[in-house]
Amino acid sequence: MAAVQLSGIFKRYGDTQVVHGIDLDIDDGEFVVLVGPSGCGKSTLMRMVAGLEEISGGDLLIGGTRANTLAPQQRNISMVFQSYALYPHLSVYDNIAFGPRIRKESSTTFKPRIDAAAKMLNLSGYLDRLPRALSGGQRQRVAMGRAVVREPSLFLFDEPLSNLDAKLRVQMRTEIKALHQRLKNTVIYVTHDQIEAMTMADRIVVMNAGRIEQIGRPLELYDRPANLFVASFLGSPSMNFAEGVIANRTQGAGVALKLADGSEVALERAPASAAPGAKVTLGVRPEHIEITVQIPDAALDVEVIEPTGAETHLYGKIGGNSWCVTTRERSKIEPGQRVALRLPAEHIHLFDTESGRRLV
Ligand code: ADP
Repeated sequence: MAAVQLSGIFKRYGDTQVVHGIDLDIDDGEFVVLVGPSGCGKSTLMRMVAGLEEISGGDLLIGGTRANTLAPQQRNISMVFQSYALYPHLSVYDNIAFGPRIRKESSTTFKPRIDAAAKMLNLSGYLDRLPRALSGGQRQRVAMGRAVVREPSLFLFDEPLSNLDAKLRVQMRTEIKALHQRLKNTVIYVTHDQIEAMTMADRIVVMNAGRIEQIGRPLELYDRPANLFVASFLGSPSMNFAEGVIANRTQGAGVALKLADGSEVALERAPASAAPGAKVTLGVRPEHIEITVQIPDAALDVEVIEPTGAETHLYGKIGGNSWCVTTRERSKIEPGQRVALRLPAEHIHLFDTESGRRLV
C-alpha cells in the first residue's frame, strides 16, 4: 500500500514543456482517475510515476520515499496498458507467472497467488489456453492477473479498456472497481472517457493542456464544476451553454441574460458578483431543464428528437446556441416546434465568460 505525492511536477521534451507543475496528493488505497482530452499530458504524468519517463522537475513521493530517480522495478508498481502486452506463445498461467519467474521466485510461493488471482478474475478455467483463444475481455483480465500477482503497492492503469467493445467496457469497468474494493490498493487510472472517470473514481483529476483544472469527487465536479472546461468535459449529453450579458428583463421584474441575438434567458437569481453589463456564460445540464406550460425562462426551437428508450433528447437552438433537453416523458413534441422551458435556479451555473471561472 502506498500514498503518492506529486509536488510541482513538470515535464519538458527539449524546449517544449508539456506538463506544467502538477500538485497532487493521493491517499493510500484511493482510486484516482486522471481524465482529460487527448494530448493533455495524463499518460506522460503517469509514465513519470511509473519511472518510464524522466521527471524534468518537482518531487515524486511513493509511500513517503522520494522516487524521482528510482528504477521502475524499485517502485513496487504494476501497470496495465491499453494493449494487453501478453506473450502470444505462453499460456494464461505462464503469462501470469512470467514476472514471478523472472524474479526467480519459487513456484510454491507464487502458484497460490496465481490461483487466487485467476479465481478472482474468473480465469481458472482458462489457465492452459493461449491468448489467441481468449476474448478481448479475458485477455484484459490476464493482463490484470499479471499485475495483481506482483502484489504491488500501486496500480497504474493506462486506458486499459479502450480496445474493448462498448458492452465489455461497461462490464470490465465494474470488475476493476470490484477488484479495487477487494484489494484496497492505491490506483491511478488514466482515461479520456469521462463516464469511466465518473463511475470508477474516488476522486477525479481533470487535466487540460498539461495542467490540473479541478480535483474532486465525481459528483462534486459534476454539480459544481469550477470552470467552463470542467463543466463541458463532464456529462453526456454535455452541459448547455449560452453566452450573454446580464441585463434587466425587458418584460417583468428581475434580471435576464441577454443573448447575442437579442433573446433573453430569465434568471431567477442574479449572481451578486455579476452586475448588469457583466459578460457571463450560463450553463445548465440537459436533465435539469423542465418543459413548462407556465411563463418560460427560455424557449427551445426543436430540430431533432432522439428517443433512447429510457429518456428522450430534444436537440434545438436557443438564441443561436445548440442545446439539448433530456426528458423522461414520452413526449409528443415534433421537430419544428417551439418548447417553453423552465431553468430551475438551483441548477443554473454561471461562469465569467472571459476567465471561464465559476461565479455561482
Ligand atoms: P495524453 O495521455 O493526455 O493523451 P500525452 O501525455 O501522451 O497526452 O502527451 C502530452 C503532450 O506531450 C502531447 O502534446 C504530446 O504530443 C507530447 N509528447 C508526448 N510524448 C512526447 C515525446 N516523446 N516527445 C515530444 N513530445 C511528446
